[in-house]
Amino acid sequence: MVNTDTWETLQEELSKKNITLVAVSKTKPVSDILELYNLGQREFGENYVQELVEKQPQLPSDIHWHYIGHLQGNKVKYIAPFVHLIHAVDSFKLLVEINKQALKNNRIIDVLLQMHIANEETKFGLDEKEIIQLLDYYEAQKEALKNIRICGLMGMATNTENETQIHSEYFRLHNFFKFVSDTSFFNKPFFSICSMGMSADYKIAVEEGSSMVRIGSILFGNR
Ligand SMILES: *Cc1c(COP(=O)(O)O)cnc(C)c1O
Repeated sequence: MVNTDTWETLQEELSKKNITLVAVSKTKPVSDILELYNLGQREFGENYVQELVEKQPQLPSDIHWHYIGHLQGNKVKYIAPFVHLIHAVDSFKLLVEINKQALKNNRIIDVLLQMHIANEETKFGLDEKEIIQLLDYYEAQKEALKNIRICGLMGMATNTENETQIHSEYFRLHNFFKFVSDTSFFNKPFFSICSMGMSADYKIAVEEGSSMVRIGSILFGNR
């Protein structure tokens, strides 16, 4: 069951602040996606390649598909023809592969780098040092990497009730996002996305400066 009232409230609240709402539709049927589409939602997020590739052709072509999960290099080719934004790039190797597949499809693919902010081993991502190192490699090989565009950072906070901890994790992500946009991407207005916040913690993420939230269960019900 889709919570259309929640969607309306969220959409109104977020659009006032210029925050993009990505509706995370993983495991949910095409009919649920269409229900939100018909209300005006265009940004949808998925995190399984197989599932996304099955759903995409069944749905309107003006949907912006966000790939928000951990992406394996050998699967990039399946989503490269249509994906709008890849949120969780966590290695230079993956960046090179996305560029290669984007070139094959004659397009430029927008990506975010995933930063590890959670106090959990299980969440993927890079720390500040590793991101700076990746950006150094990128800078050195920029000419060969014309088919990708790094548009910002993404992160997931620890799954905890401790709001102080969530605040500090999102603060760290947003702070580093500002640093990178003032240094490596100075005067590059496309570097503008700080993707943080899910159903349980998006209010905190918004307070800490999120520009894009990824929300599933409060819109589509529990998975
Ligand atoms: C599933 C998922 C979300 C949405 O989670 P909800 O708690 O359902 O809002 C957000 N981001 C990522 C990376 C996800 O995998």
